[in-house]
Amino acid sequence: MRALACGLLIVSLFNAWGISQPITIVAIDAGHGGDDTGGIGIDDLYEKEIVLKIAHLIALEAVHFPRIKVILTRRDDRSLSPAERLAAAQGAHLAISLHLDFSYDPRARGITALVPTNAQSSSRALAEALRLRLIASTRTLDRGTHQAPLWLRRLSIPAVQLNLGFLTNPEEARKLAQLAYQRRVAQAILEGINDFLRSN
Ligand SMILES: [Zn+2]
Repeated sequence: MRALACGLLIVSLFNAWGISQPITIVAIDAGHGGDDTGGIGIDDLYEKEIVLKIAHLIALEAVHFPRIKVILTRRDDRSLSPAERLAAAQGAHLAISLHLDFSYDPRARGITALVPTNAQSSSRALAEALRLRLIASTRTLDRGTHQAPLWLRRLSIPAVQLNLGFLTNPEEARKLAQLAYQRRVAQAILEGINDFLRSN
């Protein structure tokens, strides 16, 4: 009985110190950067800038998620080759690349998840968890999960690209430029990662 009590004390101490749960390192990759602006939407909104802001907000909000440690592939406005992105993501257990979408049709809107071609099922599971949270939080259109030949395929970890909305849709562009909306998206991504970790 004393051994059990002692064991429980140690477990609760470990919980208090936050070291009983394994830490998951998540590489957050803000797409584009530097000379590579990505798409430019209405009101001169730059894809590279909005995804970088959301990446920083994910890193900031991650303090509320003790199991998650975020690393950013880029922290500022610089261009990175796929090889440099791969190198920056070394040591991560999960990778999420952030992008925005563009269309000639201004009505096109919504969030899409992309997984690398021949993705492992864990990438699909991560994509589903992220999409569920993002759609519930933003109430935009769910455009589903699709396959694409992404640089992420060269990582041997669950990896997803999120296209977080259309900068060519006036309403979505206006929201994506707002800090409150960017924060909501960042929060939803962290909740999605948390859901994925709980069920895997
Ligand atoms: Zn992009």
